[in-house]
Amino acid sequence: MFLTAGDYYFVVLMSITEITVKTALVRSKIAGVDFVVNPYLGCGHGCRYCYASFMARYSHHHKRYPWGTFVEVKCNIVEVLHSELSRKRRKGTVMMSSVCDPYQPMERKYRLTRQCIEALKEFGWGIDILTRSPLVTRDIDLLSDTSSVAVGITIPTDSDHVRTVLEPNAPSIRNRLTALKQLYDAGIDTWVFIGPLLPMNPRKLYESIESYVGHILIDSLNYRDKVRDIFMKNNWAYALTDGYARDTAGELIRLFGNRAEKV
Ligand code: SF4
Repeated sequence: MFLTAGDYYFVVLMSITEITVKTALVRSKIAGVDFVVNPYLGCGHGCRYCYASFMARYSHHHKRYPWGTFVEVKCNIVEVLHSELSRKRRKGTVMMSSVCDPYQPMERKYRLTRQCIEALKEFGWGIDILTRSPLVTRDIDLLSDTSSVAVGITIPTDSDHVRTVLEPNAPSIRNRLTALKQLYDAGIDTWVFIGPLLPMNPRKLYESIESYVGHILIDSLNYRDKVRDIFMKNNWAYALTDGYARDTAGELIRLFGNRAEKV
């Protein structure tokens, strides 16, 4: 499979399997979110620090595959979601997604995220999107005509060099910024997830996003051992410390004021 991520072109050996599921809505403890929906098991972005890599053990066909090299496509998730929504007495808010990127490359072909959004809108539910991908702008027509939608773009660094090392298959920072601006200009409630806190210049990041966000959410690098070797090799050991996390979060909170929140 050929992927484009900003100015970079590369080949990723990806194992794709179509599966069926029995459930779509999963209850969530995330603040402000009642349920999560993950249309894919696995994630083609394959971020090196990914907190969701434990999901491989729930896979049907890829238990031993490295994270980022497989995706299981939940082909019937839209029908299942529709059926679940029709049986719910109370409406809620759904986050898409919690353990995969809903706009990872496979979404271009399968359009499951788009169809799930259509179902959620049909039943009048709130929707909170979180993605690293400019593919979300394909769905601006769906996302911009309701007030119960928010779209978050994950931008954990201002440096595309850092992004290339730690999120090699994910879209460039520049393309994420362009997508954020497009969403904002379309009148969508936009926010940025600055997490995990990677090596960065907080002021540069602030200056590139502050005009286009209602709020930001900050989170530390929680699984440091996963990336310790990569950080050491790139002279980023300083960014593995509690002090770096504290100072960087503090600087972002100072810059964004009451628009900033720490997880
Ligand atoms: S985009 Fe999210 S779910 Fe996908 S690999 Fe990166 S951190 Fe993990």
